[in-house]
Amino acid sequence: MTSTTLLNADLHCHSVVSDGTLTPEAVAERAAANGVDLWALTDHDEVGGQDRAIAAAHAHGMGYLTGTEISVTFAGKTVHIVGLGFDHHNDALVRGLYNTRNGRGPRAQEMGAELAKVGIKGAFEGALKYAGNPELISRTHFARFLVETKVCKDTNEVFKRFLTEGKPGFVPHRWATLKDAVQWITGAGGMAVVAHPARYDFTPTEEYALFTEFKAHGGQGVEVVTGSHTVAEYGEYADIAREFGLFASRGSDFHSPDESHTELGSLPGLPAGLTPVWESLADRVLRAAAH
Ligand code: AMP
Ligand code: MN
Ligand code: MN
Ligand code: MN
Repeated sequence: MTSTTLLNADLHCHSVVSDGTLTPEAVAERAAANGVDLWALTDHDEVGGQDRAIAAAHAHGMGYLTGTEISVTFAGKTVHIVGLGFDHHNDALVRGLYNTRNGRGPRAQEMGAELAKVGIKGAFEGALKYAGNPELISRTHFARFLVETKVCKDTNEVFKRFLTEGKPGFVPHRWATLKDAVQWITGAGGMAVVAHPARYDFTPTEEYALFTEFKAHGGQGVEVVTGSHTVAEYGEYADIAREFGLFASRGSDFHSPDESHTELGSLPGLPAGLTPVWESLADRVLRAAAH
């Protein structure tokens, strides 16, 4: 194994800037305590936490790749595309993310109205209270409110009963296109990575189309080892990485010490024979200036 394969990289997690419960500084501290060497904070549709994350990574001696996780609609379903190692001040990227976030307010109000119809009052205001970033109100914040008010015992139950397709609090939404998301990231000098591919409920044909179009637009990576995959799925998406010639990524998708089942920096290494995204992004890694 080469030393870069042994690197403890965690390139997918969230802070209060989107739907995590810790500040960027607290996520950095926790990642460093868990032995992470290379870190990326990937808040949903938002780069507002990047400067704080860079400073915190450097304070703890970790290398840092800028990150975000963009919500995309593909074949009628929501797909997440992680961006890594881009210029987080790039105009087109910042504008694209702003426009992607923009639909969240009206969507959340509609979700509140739908939940009221099944007897759950005040969900919009309740969820907003949990949103550290009011531009980034997400289903996760509704889930926390429904746990707080004891409608459900945990957030997982909320998603099953209320917040997924066909359930009373689900509001269909059109996010960014795959092409736009990939091009915002690559146009800002970064790498686009398909997040947790096993989570999507695609037919094999749809999944093939996703990877084919993703590559055609300039996408280069896929998450193989993530908190959202089983061990069997590591193997499945290692095969996809080889078949499509994609770099492989690794990330916990940590959101909160109370909710996340996968701890920062705790996942197994990438399966042998894959090329990690961080090899291709070596010159994009931000390190503290030597004194
Ligand atoms: P949104 O972007 O508002 O649609 O919210 C999506 C977020 O909900 C994801 O990023 C996850 O953090 C969370 N989520 C989705 N499905 C589940 C689930 N089954 N259990 C817990 N959290 C979930
Ligand atoms: Mn999330
Ligand atoms: Mn995701
Ligand atoms: Mn995520």
